[in-house]
Amino acid sequence: MRLIMMGPPGAGKGTQADIVCSDKSIPHISTGDIFRANVTQGTALGIEAKRYMDAGEYVPDGVTNAMVRDRLAQADCANGFLLDGYPRTIEQVGELDSMLAAQGAGIDAVVELTVDIDEVVQRLVKRAADQGRADDTEEVIRRRLEVFAEQTAPLTSLYASRGILTQVSGMGDVADVTARIHAVLNSSA
Ligand code: AMP
Repeated sequence: MRLIMMGPPGAGKGTQADIVCSDKSIPHISTGDIFRANVTQGTALGIEAKRYMDAGEYVPDGVTNAMVRDRLAQADCANGFLLDGYPRTIEQVGELDSMLAAQGAGIDAVVELTVDIDEVVQRLVKRAADQGRADDTEEVIRRRLEVFAEQTAPLTSLYASRGILTQVSGMGDVADVTARIHAVLNSSA
């Protein structure tokens, strides 16, 4: 299964993606996690990405696309994967389409987690306290939500027009959200 998990920052994508991936035995590919690992290791990619991440901006498409292309070429992605936090721009959608077309494959389902914006801000502020993320200050959170609305929200209608998008409420308990996602994926599988 080739899946995309979408939704605004703080919607719970990472948590739900982990659960889906262990259930389906597919790799969880989070571009945010890969960037953060590079930042921690002090790689050239990490040094470049950090400038954008700390400001709540997107890392340039060229950098992000090349990183995903490398990751999807690895053997563990041959039978499926879940992309969490990618694609986030129209240009990334086009790049992903061409990466998959080269393998004769396509995305099976896109799950969008929808949340109340006040709850998102609360979740992000709490996560900042728990994890000490540099991009979870209130000012940066606000900017990340703006960038999401400008650049990523339009992807919803694009995937909807392809007939592969399902919106799932991300509100409430983790287990309730998981149950909703399972219902969607098991009906389309
Ligand atoms: P996330 O953990 O998915 O919220 O990502 C954290 C940060 O990494 C984002 O705010 C961006 O700065 C960067 N990032 C992650 N994925 C992408 C992407 N697909 N395109 C551009 N920047 C990204």
